[in-house]
Amino acid sequence: SRQSHIRNFSIIAHIDHGKSTLADRILEATQALTKREMKEQTLDAMDLERERGITIKLNAVELTYKAPDGETYIFHLIDTPGHVDFSYEVSRSLAACEGALLVVDAAQGVEAQTLANVFLALENNLEIIPVINKIDLPNADPDRVKKEIEDVIGLDASDAVLASAKTGIGTEDILKQIIDRIPAPTGDPDAPLRALIFDSLYDAYRGVVVYVRIIDGTVRVGDTIKLMATGKTFEVIEVGVSTPKIETRDALSVGDVGFLTASIKSVHDTRVGDTITYAERPAAEPLPGYRKMNPMVYCGLYPIDTARYDDLREALGRLELNDAALQYEPETSEALGFGFRCGFLGLLHMDIVQERLEREFNIDLIATAPSVIYKVKLTDGSTVDVGNPSEMPERKYLEEVSEPYVKATIMTPNDYVGTIMELCQRKRGDFKNMEYLDDNRTNIIYDLPLSEIMYDFFDSLKSSTKGYASLDYEMDGYRVSDLVKMDILLNGEKVDALSVIVHKEFAYDRGKAIVEKLKELIPRQQFEVPIQAAIGLKIISRSTIKALRKNVLAKCYGGDVSRKRKLLEKQKEGKKRMKAVGSVDVPQEAFMAVFRMS
Ligand code: GDP
Ligand code: MG
Repeated sequence: SRQSHIRNFSIIAHIDHGKSTLADRILEATQALTKREMKEQTLDAMDLERERGITIKLNAVELTYKAPDGETYIFHLIDTPGHVDFSYEVSRSLAACEGALLVVDAAQGVEAQTLANVFLALENNLEIIPVINKIDLPNADPDRVKKEIEDVIGLDASDAVLASAKTGIGTEDILKQIIDRIPAPTGDPDAPLRALIFDSLYDAYRGVVVYVRIIDGTVRVGDTIKLMATGKTFEVIEVGVSTPKIETRDALSVGDVGFLTASIKSVHDTRVGDTITYAERPAAEPLPGYRKMNPMVYCGLYPIDTARYDDLREALGRLELNDAALQYEPETSEALGFGFRCGFLGLLHMDIVQERLEREFNIDLIATAPSVIYKVKLTDGSTVDVGNPSEMPERKYLEEVSEPYVKATIMTPNDYVGTIMELCQRKRGDFKNMEYLDDNRTNIIYDLPLSEIMYDFFDSLKSSTKGYASLDYEMDGYRVSDLVKMDILLNGEKVDALSVIVHKEFAYDRGKAIVEKLKELIPRQQFEVPIQAAIGLKIISRSTIKALRKNVLAKCYGGDVSRKRKLLEKQKEGKKRMKAVGSVDVPQEAFMAVFRMS
């Protein structure tokens, strides 16, 4: 039967170990695309993904494979992101699969996210096929990596495929193991429909497109379906799959991974993780769905052009559909006007959302410095969550302030243990444990304030270990800390969007650093602009931006015209990402500087 020939699998790996490249090889082997149609990392469809060389979104394709045994198989391959910020996408893909290819770089070996992704796969009861990739590299050491997979992860690696996604070595063997080891879907095609929504997006022509894995039953064009969480019903207009070309079908049945449209106009009617069933003959129980993700980082997003506030709201609504982890609510800032406080899973996620809003919806934005959520106990006994530093109550009302901590697991070659411990100590870390994984690898476990690791921790870790250490972290509750709010005043006026929460011990140094940085970043104005950092009423640091000389063009007077034009253009460019705060023009970088220096 068709169902017994379906294999649904995902590819999991630490970032850069070669998931997307291996997906390309599998696409080629199944002749989904001709050589001419092939681009590198075909499944990374977003421009943003290609430019940055990372996978942001999961991606599902249906492939037909004529096996050497003469049988034809249907594969549904789901490519997933590797960065820790997007592990939510990974866990969603895995719930739609029966198996996973675990790709491990033959030179780098097992890393923190290799382990984290394996745990996700095991939670979903997936059959895991280890693939040791990049064996073409001169420093590849497949035997050591095999041993690591066994010792560190605890998986049998005796049948691990030795592969090079670059040259194509091992691809046939991988396909064979997919067929032999990954079980076919077991659902009942005649039972009431149960389709898991694992992704969705908004299409200007077709409305909401939902991506589903059919667990039970069959969905046909014309069926009336019900979304179990919202109770809304719709008539199915179109079903199909990506091969990766869009192909419409009459029906999707058990084991299929594809899309459907049903004139769903409102982005609020569908929810990732919801179950689709028949309106007439509904399933008794929805599928388990997904764990809700809580944002870890917040920032304010404001349109540079205030007239585009409604466009921004609309854009966020549509993006939310394609990015289930994004949260937002309206907020106002004295300095920046109307905008939204948005919640993200991490800084990379925040960066990607801002860039998608600008590219896909054409809205220029100012983002305020990212902040974690502080839990604040007030003297009257009540507690509040503060995700916007400017909303931190005055000191006299504060009983205590707690900040989020993470449990960080750092996997490293033994040589760097000392360096890493110094780094963690500097970031207010609390040493927890150390595990020797094998002869040359150690796991170091630290409790760290989330705010300290948010910005440059990962970069510092990479640069101080020549790229060999890797990091994974999970939230680990709140702890009371000695934190204060620092305000920034421009031209004597407090700018709410520049307020920042800092540890008291570092307040003076950071105040000084921020003021100096702002002096560098804020362009000269027609008048002198004092910059001050204050805690409460106390000014802890100050500096002054000198007034602009009368005429910037004066020095080109008589000079050649092209130089003059260049200067004007440069000024115009600088203007683009600038927001007038009172009488002072403040560039985007200034908002980020507050955070980088703190
Ligand atoms: P992903 O982050 O896991 O999706 O990794 P990519 O597929 O984007 O690959 C990361 C980098 O490793 C790219 O520069 C690839 O060209 C390279 N790469 C992937 N597979 C191989 C391989 O088998 N051999 C070599 N030498 N490089 C590879
Ligand atoms: Mg990739």
